[in-house]
Amino acid sequence: MALSPMMQEYLRVKEEYKDCILMCRVGDFFEMFFDDALTASKELDLTLTGKDCGLPERAPMCGVPHHAVDAYIGRLVKNGRKVALLDQVEDPKFAKGLVKREVTRVVTPGTFYDGTGEDEGKNNFLTAVVCTGDRFGLAACDASTGEFLVTETDRKGRLLDEIMKLSPSELIINEAVRLSGFDLDGLHDRLGCLIETLDDRSFSDSRCEEALLSHFHAESMEELGIDAFPCGISAAGSLLLYLLETQKTDLTHITEIRPYRTENYMVLGMSTVRNLELTETMRDKEKKGSLLWVLDRTKTAMGARMLRSWIEQPLIDRDEINARLDAVEALIGHEISCEELREYLNPVYDLERLVGRISYRTANPRDLIALRTSLSMLPHIRDMLREFPCALFSELQNMDTLEDLCDLLARSVDDDPPVNVREGGIIRDGYSAEVDEFRRAKSDGRRWLAELEAREREKTGIHTLRVKYNRIFGYCIEVSNSFKDKVPEEYTRRQTLSTGERYTTNELKELEDRILGAQDRLYGLEYDLFCEIRDTAAAALVRIQKTARAVACIDALASLAYVARRNRYVRPAVTEGGEIQIRAGRHPVVEQMMRSESFVPNDTSLDLKKQRIAVITGPNMAGKSTYMRQTALIVLMAQIGSFVPADSAKIGIVDRIFTRVGASDDLASGQSTFMVEMTEVAEILKNATGNSLLILDEIGRGTSTFDGLALAWAIIEYVADRRLIGAKTLFATHYHELTELEGKIDGVKNYCIAVREKGDSILFLRKIVKGGADKSYGIQVARLAGVPEAVLARADDLVEQLTNADITSAIETIAGSSPSAKKKTAGVHYDDVDLEQMSFFDAVSDGDVLEELRNVRIDELTPLDALNELYRLQNKLKNRWRNE
Ligand code: ADP
Repeated sequence: MALSPMMQEYLRVKEEYKDCILMCRVGDFFEMFFDDALTASKELDLTLTGKDCGLPERAPMCGVPHHAVDAYIGRLVKNGRKVALLDQVEDPKFAKGLVKREVTRVVTPGTFYDGTGEDEGKNNFLTAVVCTGDRFGLAACDASTGEFLVTETDRKGRLLDEIMKLSPSELIINEAVRLSGFDLDGLHDRLGCLIETLDDRSFSDSRCEEALLSHFHAESMEELGIDAFPCGISAAGSLLLYLLETQKTDLTHITEIRPYRTENYMVLGMSTVRNLELTETMRDKEKKGSLLWVLDRTKTAMGARMLRSWIEQPLIDRDEINARLDAVEALIGHEISCEELREYLNPVYDLERLVGRISYRTANPRDLIALRTSLSMLPHIRDMLREFPCALFSELQNMDTLEDLCDLLARSVDDDPPVNVREGGIIRDGYSAEVDEFRRAKSDGRRWLAELEAREREKTGIHTLRVKYNRIFGYCIEVSNSFKDKVPEEYTRRQTLSTGERYTTNELKELEDRILGAQDRLYGLEYDLFCEIRDTAAAALVRIQKTARAVACIDALASLAYVARRNRYVRPAVTEGGEIQIRAGRHPVVEQMMRSESFVPNDTSLDLKKQRIAVITGPNMAGKSTYMRQTALIVLMAQIGSFVPADSAKIGIVDRIFTRVGASDDLASGQSTFMVEMTEVAEILKNATGNSLLILDEIGRGTSTFDGLALAWAIIEYVADRRLIGAKTLFATHYHELTELEGKIDGVKNYCIAVREKGDSILFLRKIVKGGADKSYGIQVARLAGVPEAVLARADDLVEQLTNADITSAIETIAGSSPSAKKKTAGVHYDDVDLEQMSFFDAVSDGDVLEELRNVRIDELTPLDALNELYRLQNKLKNRWRNE
């Protein structure tokens, strides 16, 4: 037996699109067969059926209705699949033999946009990473907006940060990336993105360069401004080729390639973006509760995307920062005008994505109305800019308001057109004489039919005679059964009904031709005109994109101004002097989340000299993390050009912000918390500079007390050393011992968060003050948390004993006082814990050796003496253990 011809064709195409789920148009359905059917039926909850395919067994099959195909594709793509559409490219009515089919589109996670507006404030990036030797090229494209970026770096860490920031849904790489030891699985787990390794041919220099030059109509890489990124060129070229191959259009809306250098922006490591909850919260991955949630009051999707990118890429150039701050200040100074401006932004649709659909030729008439509405706002927006004197807005006043296109759309497209482009009703009356003519014929036709009906009734005497329209039979004269004999000779019967008969006449046929002909031609003409108008809009692509960017910028600035006014922010003085002086600073997010209580503001004072490192102590829950994050967020806000939550702020520009905060969420990745902590610390110590800001929270907590303390101590020394790093640092710790560093290490100052004791309890004052905390208040915090009184009382008791005696005797006392020490039985009850089993306590029984060690006068020993002494002490311990 042989496969049926259709199946042969299906399998031939499938061979070419092995990595895709292939959907094949059959009648009104898109069908999937064999393994694809098994996968899709599971993921889409479709009923699995079978199809005779010429083989003894039926082929597994499932399908979706063609009009709903996009929704199903969306679901598959969100599961990380690629879908190829094998569509009919000729009308089956006219097909001779097998209907001609072609793959018309390949939809992938990085190229899918469903137009539902669900993720409109976010880009959907397809990203390519290429590794050559020791360099990495990175290119990213949002196929729905046409945004196309390229950069290059020689640092793997930097590359990873960039990828995390772009948060692509699909990543293509060359084999070398895989071999470079890049943690692709980790990346896949974090981003859930589809990662594909393409063969080296896809990245060949000549193919990539050729693709870029021909797409952007350029002569050279210099002309495109990307000649400094040889590796980036491979990434960009391969990405473009991949897009051309999958989208099967000419991608005219990708009009520009934008090279950027990661060094031109503040570097935010991916842990910083996460820890500071810049765009989503750490726990729930929600926007609510993030900095973006507070700052984003934009009116347009383009503005929302731009603001997000500002937050992810703070500036480091003082003039650029001040230009944004000037604009925000000007907007705040003219509140009423600013509100009016925001009103004008309100009706503006997502121009960037509209333009994407227009150039893909998928825009429908309603999209053109959305475009018109948006464009009609532009002159108002531009005129409003005059109200806000500042350099940025004077520049934006030159924006193209596209009045010619707006005027064309206003004249040509009906206010309330259908979505379907083939059913007429698109073109406005008065735009085309021909359309008007056909419309007249159509309505005249109705009058002619009414006249014919009246005439026939009179002629035949059948007063119930009716002229009717039927989709299959066209126009006909309907006569009920009771008048059958009065039907004249010249009537030709067309259809028999239970209640009567339907006829036609020569005259009616003639009329029908005229009317239906007019309608067909009208619809055809309307469609042609619509396409013409859409093409005119497509020709204005670059202009619309430029204007869209101007609108996005205005919207983002207006949002910052609105938020600043509402939340009483102040303009920060941005300097290059390195100091950070914040008076009465507040945490932008925590203050918004608090309802009944009010946020307690705090000062921050850091500089490059005496106040470089603040060691912050205080009980758990005092507010240490909040305070440190607030400082980092205020610095970041200043550098994106936002006003800041404080009474006043002087911010010396920082080149990077590093944070190391609790690692609870890394447990899922399978690494030990302490390992993660130290890996991040290692990264920070390697990359921080004297101009960085470091937020280190509870370093060393994940290991034993002594190790932890020792590491924390050594890290502070290292960070404080100006020859090594010398960065401004906020260091929160529960090790009180670290407060000893003040006075010993240059630049270290102690701070603590004040609490007030109230009997057995404590009151958090949330106020940061100079000096170190002398107690940890752990038991009081445990009481606030509801730990049973019996445990607290016992703990109190133990603390007292531990602090009153030296450690050896304290342990002996505890061991002696423990009821279990006598019983020597292990059990679950606290009182029953067999303390003698704990190795820690065993070690301390060697207290005399420790004592001797403590008394050694190291500076009086020669190296040889020191070695001998060490040998003697070690022997003493070894012998003792042997004797035991
Ligand atoms: P720590 O890091 O010292 O354990 P956190 O910074 O996590 O403490 O703060 C504990 C709680 O105190 C948080 O829930 C926060 O909402 C609240 N808090 C912190 N700082 C302030 C403040 N300045 N004003 C009011 N509430 C605060």
